[in-house]
Parts: sequence; structure tokens; C-alpha cells
Amino acid sequence: MSLSKRIRAISPSPTLAIDAKSKQMVADGIDVVNFSVGEPDFDTPDHIKEAAIKAIHDGFTKYTAAAGIAELKKVICKKFVDDNGLEYSPDQIVVSVGAKHSLFNAYQALLDEGDEVILQAPYWVTYPEVIKLAGGVPVVVDTDETTGFKMTPAQIREKLTPRTKVINLNSPSNPTGAVYNRKELEAIAEIVLENNLYVVSDEIYEELVYGGVEFVSFAALGEQVKNRTIVINGVSKSYAMTGWRIGYAASPLDLAKGMAKLQGHVTSNPTSIAQKAAVAAIGGPKKPVRDMVKEFDKRRKHMAERVNRIPGFNCGLPDGAFYLFPNVEYYFGTEIAGRKIETSDDLAEVILEQAKVAVVPGSGFGSPKNIRFSYATSMERIDEGLDRIEALLK
Ligand code: PLP
Repeated sequence: MSLSKRIRAISPSPTLAIDAKSKQMVADGIDVVNFSVGEPDFDTPDHIKEAAIKAIHDGFTKYTAAAGIAELKKVICKKFVDDNGLEYSPDQIVVSVGAKHSLFNAYQALLDEGDEVILQAPYWVTYPEVIKLAGGVPVVVDTDETTGFKMTPAQIREKLTPRTKVINLNSPSNPTGAVYNRKELEAIAEIVLENNLYVVSDEIYEELVYGGVEFVSFAALGEQVKNRTIVINGVSKSYAMTGWRIGYAASPLDLAKGMAKLQGHVTSNPTSIAQKAAVAAIGGPKKPVRDMVKEFDKRRKHMAERVNRIPGFNCGLPDGAFYLFPNVEYYFGTEIAGRKIETSDDLAEVILEQAKVAVVPGSGFGSPKNIRFSYATSMERIDEGLDRIEALLK
């Protein structure tokens, strides 16, 4: 079969691959502790499920407007006002089949062949691929622990060329949990305005910030900045709704129209029932989100403390999301359970095979010296998994 160049140029998702391997081990009856997941372990709150059940009973099961129902766009606009101080009109909102789909739409609508997108490593695995699929060229800025896994303005300036069109931001970040503060974002905004760039700002982990850290939406830095920003968000992480597949983009009107046009030919509307559930989630009580954040915060501190106690594992205490991203270089060139460790892929594999704990190697995130631990699992499983890793690495 002769596959297109476009498809041959993209890599499969490494996070889904490790997840598939650990699920297979579980299916084979092996007790695997899963630190590789990118989704809350909490159940979708009941009032959200009930809204979906009601939608089914009411017969709300037909096509809707391709870019989303008016009721959902209205609560999204209200969320932007309440949480971010941002005014959008409903026609600037495009609701899609998950934030991943919103990102796909945004890059398809923004990029021409050869346009460059500056993004930082470690990055969420999908960014380079979704940029390439749109004909764009990912231009990677390497970051590490020394800058808290954040790009500096000088690093960004170094990468600017006449083809630079977009800066991709993700705060709080997957996989590092880093959160950019207002001053850091303002410095990036200055570069954006000076060079007439656009920003795709993936804010899907907005609600998951800890220790009183302020979340700042990039678009909230002023009207001029807002006119150059595409905000991406969704319900997956904040409301434990990964399977419902609802994400959204807020952008300048012409871009929103472009994305809606594209979506009208690709998926049509996101699922009608899931849209009703998203109305209940975004427009409903915040208590379930607050309770979830409180629990994540406990786990974050506990897991970071324990991970840092493992010889050779080094990570700070991230401000957001639900991941730790320790540096594990210490083990390169060593032998564990008779196996030579040269990379974080080798280490992740030996941890899965020997300790029966799934972690994600940093290579897929453009950061091969690290591995990603997710704390979207219970305290008991966190302790169980770390006990096993400690025993293996002793
Ligand atoms: N953006 C980031 C940074 C993510 O980590 C993820 C999921 O892992 C997504 C977007 C995709 O979210 P959704 O489930 O809404 O497609």
C-alpha cells in the first residue's frame, strides 16, 4: 500500500503506545501500576452525566450546527468573561471533537506550506505532528530544568525567521506541569506584536494549578494580543470528561469562520449529547473541579517528594497539570536487571517489564533525558508503583 507523504511524515503517539502495551499486560492478568495516563482517574460528575441522559430522552440526537450549539457557545463565552476577563461573541467560538481536534482545525486554518511554528520542548506529543499535517514546520526551542521548562524571550528571538507565523504555547504544560506567569507571557506577547505573529495557546489544564499560582490566559494580555491569539480549551481534564470529546477554540472572527467551514466538511458537529453534557459542565457548579484539584495537589506533593527520594531521579514541584517530569540521566550507561540503559526509552521499558509500572519516556516529548509520571491515579497506587520502582533501582 502506498501511503501519502503526509501520513508517512507523522509519528504514532508514544503515549498511546505505552498505554496500549500496559493495557495488554493487564489483559494478560498482570497487575500494572499505570503512571502513563493523561486523564483524570475521577468519574465524570453526576450532574453532567444526567444532562447527557436527559438529552437522549429528549431526543436531542440529531445533527447540530457544525461549530456547536448556541447554548454551549453561550456558556463558553460566559466562562471566558468570568474566569479570564475575556469578551468573545458566540460566533468566535468553534466547538470541536476534543481540544486535539480544535488544535488540528487551528493549524489547518492558519498555516501554509513552509510556515514555521515555534514551540518548546518538552512538548505535548501531538504539537509537531499536527503542525506538520498542516504543512507547517515545527521549530523547537529546547528548555530544561534550569528555566523551569519555560522558553525565554531570547531563545524565541533566536528562532525567528521571515517564515515564522505562530508561537505554540501550552501553560500549564503537559508533560512538565510548568505554568508561565504574567510577566513571562507579557515578554512573549511583546515578540508576537513586534513581529505580527499569532499564538496558539493550549489552555486545557487551566483549572489544574496549585499552591495559589495564578493562571493567566494569553489572550487576556490586551486587545491587540487577543486579536492574534487562538485559545484552545476543553472539558477533558477539568471535568474528567476525556471520553466525551468536547474541546473548543476562541479566536478572531475570520479564523473562527475558517475553522467552522473546515469542520463542516470533516466531522460536522461534535456529538449532540456530549455538547449538552458540556453545557452542564462549564455552566454548572465548580465544586467537583475544586475537589479534584485539592486531591491532585495532595498527590502532587506526595509523589514529587517520593520521586525525588529515588536515587538519580530529579524533579521540581510543578505548578500545574498532573505530571512530574524527572530527569533520569543518572541511569544512562548503567545496567538494570541485566539490561543496558542508554536512553529513557530503555529505562521506561525495564520499569514496565520488571517493576510492572507504566511511565512514559521523554523521547516522544522531545526530551529524551526525562520520563513522565502522571499522578492521575490514587495515593495507594502511587505508593505501590513507587515502592516497585525503588525496589528495582536499588
Ligand atoms: N492539549 C494537551 C496539552 C493535552 O495534554 C491533551 C490531552 O492529553 C489535549 C490537548 C487533548 O485534549 P482533548 O481530550 O480535549 O482532545
